Amino acid sequence: MTQTSIDWKSLEEQYYVACFGRAPVTIVRGDGTKVWDDEGREYLDFAAGIAVNALGHANPDIADAVAAQARTLVHTSNLFYTTPQLELARTLIDNSCLDRIFYVNSGGEATETAVKSARKYGRLNLDGAYEVVTTYRGFHGRSLAMTAATGTPAYQEPFQPMPQGFAHVEYNDLAALESAVSEKTCAVMIELIQAEGGVYVADPEYAAGIRSLCDERGILMILDEVQTGIGRLGTFYGYEQFGIEPDIIALAKGLGGGFPIGAALFKENCAVLRPGDHGSTFSGNPLVCAAAKVVTEKVLEPAFLDSVNSKGDALRQALEGFRSTGKVVDVRGMGLLLGFQLDSVDTADALIAGARDGGLLIIKVSADTVRMVPPLTVSESEIDAAAGIIRNVLLGL
Ligand SMILES: *Cc1c(COP(=O)(O)O)cnc(C)c1O
Repeated sequence: MTQTSIDWKSLEEQYYVACFGRAPVTIVRGDGTKVWDDEGREYLDFAAGIAVNALGHANPDIADAVAAQARTLVHTSNLFYTTPQLELARTLIDNSCLDRIFYVNSGGEATETAVKSARKYGRLNLDGAYEVVTTYRGFHGRSLAMTAATGTPAYQEPFQPMPQGFAHVEYNDLAALESAVSEKTCAVMIELIQAEGGVYVADPEYAAGIRSLCDERGILMILDEVQTGIGRLGTFYGYEQFGIEPDIIALAKGLGGGFPIGAALFKENCAVLRPGDHGSTFSGNPLVCAAAKVVTEKVLEPAFLDSVNSKGDALRQALEGFRSTGKVVDVRGMGLLLGFQLDSVDTADALIAGARDGGLLIIKVSADTVRMVPPLTVSESEIDAAAGIIRNVLLGL
């Protein structure tokens, strides 16, 4: 397992576009919540591929399903019927308030598909209204249009001019949203938890208020559930926590358990895409759908979501306990999408490095906030162990 003779860091520097700030760890293997580096060191992985490895690493059921599917049929394009994508479609739709699905390969494509659909809906039903109102500090992906949708000037600046048709307002401010909605607006798109933005949770009245506002104005409510969907918040879809029904949702991250699949789900009246409007070569192919079928069926098993909730409570309690160190100033989130804010950026950086040395991988969201997104299959004892590592580092800072 040791490959210390190869300097992966300099290979990356030589060959790769210098776009990622990587931690100095080369991960070669995983099992459940654990991963091992190229020098054989073991880590608890509370980053989980950015909330992607919902069933942990090297999940045997996913491995078996994908291996069997790989020996049977990997890809055909969407010009033919294939069965895994339709079985998965039935599961995702029958367990939702939505009626139709379109597969894509990533989160950014899922939100892009939602926005394209909302624009066509506006053309058909709202006199050509095309604008989508989103929130500052949100995150919707990295395509040019989703960079425009994401209200973060630093992400936009190198790529100006931005595609038109997005307006931004402060999060959790219903009055600001109301005044931003005009006759040009076809949809509102928000995250129920601004994950990349720092793990900020929507107030229940805000979520309900957006639903009412969209109903009154006849515009669409798009939820970006790329990070919150598929069990992460303790319900199958995040919107179930808020007692509302969106018109469109975007999914990706946890859906494939590590395989690249995303989807947009629609109420019947906004499933307006028709032949020629949209497409994707790889999307919903048998291989990724075989993986996603295992993930969704597991998350839907009785007791699985109960366990996410109880483990989320345990992790949250541990994070709240860190306040006594004086270094943790806030704890936010829901289910197993939690964040804790440190007293400074330096503390956050030192904590992440110290935790890594102690055998725990954690990642930041905003500069001073650490996100805890372990696999949904994490055990209580792994949560205790991770909390112990963090506590030790915080006490030593
Ligand atoms: C990660 C993320 C995206 C983008 O997903 P990609 O797969 O990286 O394109 C979009 N929206 C939210 C809420 C996300 O967390």
